[in-house]
Amino acid sequence: MRPFDYSRATDLDAAVRSGAVPATRFVAGGTTLVDLMKLEVETPAHLVDINPLRAREPIMSAVTELPDGGLRLGGLAHMSDVAWNARVRERYPLVSQSLLLAASGQVRNMATMAGNVLQRTRCPYFRDVASACNKREPGSGCSALQGFNRTHAILGTSEHCIAVHPSDLAVALAALDATVHVRGAGVNGVSDRRIPFTRLHAMPGNHPERETVLAPGDVITAIDLPPLPFGKRSTYLKVRDRTSFAFALASAAVALDLRDGMIHDARVALGGVGTVPWKSREAEKALFGKRVGAETFRMAAREAVRGARPTKQNAFKVALVQRTLVRALTEVSA
Ligand code: SF4
Repeated sequence: MRPFDYSRATDLDAAVRSGAVPATRFVAGGTTLVDLMKLEVETPAHLVDINPLRAREPIMSAVTELPDGGLRLGGLAHMSDVAWNARVRERYPLVSQSLLLAASGQVRNMATMAGNVLQRTRCPYFRDVASACNKREPGSGCSALQGFNRTHAILGTSEHCIAVHPSDLAVALAALDATVHVRGAGVNGVSDRRIPFTRLHAMPGNHPERETVLAPGDVITAIDLPPLPFGKRSTYLKVRDRTSFAFALASAAVALDLRDGMIHDARVALGGVGTVPWKSREAEKALFGKRVGAETFRMAAREAVRGARPTKQNAFKVALVQRTLVRALTEVSA
């Protein structure tokens, strides 16, 4: 690990200004960043610990009720606290399930909401500084294209990067059309802005190194879950090599509004297959107004993978993610 400066932020706006200094990273749970620093994939010169903000900005680590009936998840709230929160479990079971299936209890006790959705890819070449990787070192090439790519993405890929987004929580948030609250340093000073969750992450295109629309110094202060009465009828289904602990090969986050055997509304997102948490408006559209049943679900699944570009090693994901989605839809409609 390279040497770095360490400071503790006690004031949000001061943290934003500190974070905007080049080669600075925020740390909270540190469950991804510290690993990457040990591997020298991340080499920040300055580390700003934002954990002390919990005392100054309690809303940042809480789950709070919104006037419109939604819930606000603090950016510094721990995965465990959100996963076991009674209101989250009752009103948005897919969020709770995505968190419980994401990591061990120890990791969930440390990692935060913001850190989870901003975690970096598990592509092995990204984590190996001896390998060419456009995401880590722009212009160096992509070792995965001709290398080991069984676990990589089939949707949203480019000729420069096929890394899959690893977060389970992000798939649930994409399905729900959550909103991200950001405090950042703009031209007129420090200010707040909102970003639809589905626009937070960037597909690799020609610049795999740009993973989100956030700017240096931006702090995710909270994530809002919209009011969604049928969120109670939701699930997060994850398929992986080892049930004990592994990232998704394929996953599906779904919520259905059912009335008299008909699908009145739907929310769908896929994980383990996209370069970003994969919101499938195509699948939602295919479900809307249809009768509940296997044929409807299979048709939605076919729509969800339209445009997939698998490699030889991960072509199995095209069928796997369709089966995952059909099973998730079947479970929530039972
Ligand atoms: Fe790097 Fe992306 Fe290629 Fe992996 S898939 S080696 S992260 S450029």
